[in-house]
Amino acid sequence: MLILGGTHEARRLATKLALDARYEPLLSYAGRTENPELPGDVACRVGGFGGAEALGVFLARFDALIDATHPFAAQISANAVVAARAADVPLLRLVRPAWPREDTWVEVASMRAAAQALGDAPKRVFLTIGRLEVGAFKHAPQHHYVVRAVDAFEPDLPDAKVIAARGPFRLDDERALLERERIDVLVSKNAGTPATYDKLRAARERKLPVIMVARPVLPDAPEVATVEEAEAWLRHGSERGE
Ligand code: NAP
Repeated sequence: MLILGGTHEARRLATKLALDARYEPLLSYAGRTENPELPGDVACRVGGFGGAEALGVFLARFDALIDATHPFAAQISANAVVAARAADVPLLRLVRPAWPREDTWVEVASMRAAAQALGDAPKRVFLTIGRLEVGAFKHAPQHHYVVRAVDAFEPDLPDAKVIAARGPFRLDDERALLERERIDVLVSKNAGTPATYDKLRAARERKLPVIMVARPVLPDAPEVATVEEAEAWLRHGSERGE
């Protein structure tokens, strides 16, 4: 099976399946980070396929497709639906549940809306949205930004500091960061992962507002929330002779 990855769940599923003689997983990465932590014991490939149609062609030699990409990776998830249909290969989406809403959150639908929600008065903002969409905050140049991303980069913002770090992040470190950087407000995507949840705990302790970007809406596909459910789906597929 082909596993579209970039998440902890994708890696864990691929590693488990690679140990099982019935399966031959190939784990696919987009290649966004400079040093992806490729699991040594699983076959991996890196890089885009060249669109939905090309993914469909690539998929022809597989028995199943598992889309275990990040909940905000909307393009590849849409491509997976189109490609699976074209190749007539069963598709399963493995996506962790969103974090439940809290009353200190302002929920917004886009990065642009998140930038607007910061308001006019200058603030010290902790941006935990990755590197790719930081440009949306150019429209709110009055703020000081502390940007955390896996790789160091030069944000196109007038007043920003980058912290290059890969999760998981511990509660004590998150508390210390909010204190040290004198953060007024946190901006996050609703990733749903425990690995990055403690920033929200630390923010709640300090009664800081959180601007939470809601997940993009994806085209319908059969969906599970855990690696174990994905394994069960694959087992049932084998029993059905797929
Ligand atoms: P995206 O906008 O949905 O995808 C853009 C293009 O990147 C896709 O059309 C595809 O190129 C390629 N691509 C994406 N995931 C791929 C994969 N697993 N294997 C091969 N090609 C892939 O995705 P994104 O938001 O840039 O995210 C890229 C990757 O980073 C995803 O795998 C995701 O799981 C991971 N990630 C994303 C986020 C996030 O917040 N977006 C956070 C953490 C990790 P082609 O059309 O050429 O095939």
